[in-house]
Amino acid sequence: MKKHIAVLAGDGIGPEITDGAIAVLKKVAEKFGHEFTFEPLLMGGCAIDACGEPLPAKTVERCLASDSVLLGAVGGPKWDTLPGDKRPEKGLLGIRKALGLYSNIRPAKLWKALADASPLKKQLVENGVEIIVVRELTGGIYFGERGRYEDEALGETAWDTEKYSVTEIRRIAKIACELARKRSGKVISVDKANVLESSRLWRKTVHEYAEENYPDVTVTDMLVDNTAMQIVKNPAQFDVMLTSNMFGDILSDEAAQVTGSIGMLASSSLGDGTRGLYEPIHGSAPDIAGQDVANPIATILSAAMMLRDSFSLTEEYAAIENAIAKVLDEGYRTADIMSEGMTKVGCKEMTRLIAERI
Ligand code: NAD
Repeated sequence: MKKHIAVLAGDGIGPEITDGAIAVLKKVAEKFGHEFTFEPLLMGGCAIDACGEPLPAKTVERCLASDSVLLGAVGGPKWDTLPGDKRPEKGLLGIRKALGLYSNIRPAKLWKALADASPLKKQLVENGVEIIVVRELTGGIYFGERGRYEDEALGETAWDTEKYSVTEIRRIAKIACELARKRSGKVISVDKANVLESSRLWRKTVHEYAEENYPDVTVTDMLVDNTAMQIVKNPAQFDVMLTSNMFGDILSDEAAQVTGSIGMLASSSLGDGTRGLYEPIHGSAPDIAGQDVANPIATILSAAMMLRDSFSLTEEYAAIENAIAKVLDEGYRTADIMSEGMTKVGCKEMTRLIAERI
């Protein structure tokens, strides 16, 4: 398979961690007989320095011409005093919009070897946990109408609107069902259908859509308040979790915390086509940039998700995941996940160890 990948390394530790992901992708290509080409492009602070704007038109154009996009992280103190629309983070929103990405997928995975990093009791997480939150990204209350007015009886009052259409719900349900089909075949759809009209439409639409198009996928519903409780009570029951924008925002942070370490968490954003944007959930970590101590695993896992979710290379995804599990089982740790008795390694060495085990 031939694929062209746009690489937005960004700022801070961005270049180190994307170099790690590229090295692992090159090893996968060699082992499985693929041809991956990589095109470095500017976005974020480095783009501001080079051409005065966080998202140059050439970057958008080339990303649109690529098969998928790998992103490191953007931002840093150097650009913190710039006005809002000139800051590196503006590039992130711009590229998501330009690529038409309306879903955000954040797998919160707790590796067996890192069970001690979880704040939960060992018996709840000892067999590993992986909660894949599929969050709707461009609708709901964050984008609905809002306002303020002076209420005669109550004084200053503000309101926001939660609004979802069948079209928006069906397209995000599709992303969740596609993922579930490649995994356990199960989706837990989160709503507040006992109270909210938008949630009742959400529930009805998700079921109708899945029954029509994915008869092999089982959809069950869970109320959002119960979901928040179940994530800490029995996290292992979850696989693919489908949520609206706001519920996903909150629950994905809760799920991420169960796994204990920001340097391990990957994410993807997808739209209608197969092209996605794959990035670690952490930022550019300026405090450790250039020191070869960053954990590259979140970015390597993001690259693995690209292989599975954009290119349907499930075996190659598994090869990367198994290589990471092996390295962790053998006791190698970057500084952020270091514990007593383990072997501390830097970003480059962690990358080398993972690539060697593909
Ligand atoms: P951060 O995620 O960059 O760092 C938080 C802490 O986690 C730091 O101590 C850092 O050293 C550590 N850390 C993060 N990633 C790590 C890794 N891979 N390995 C080891 N340790 C790691 O968050 P922050 O410090 O709040 O933000 C720094 C900059 O990143 C800011 O400019 C912020 O705007 C930007 N940011 C960018 C993105 C993005 O590009 N998607 C996301 C969040 C923050």
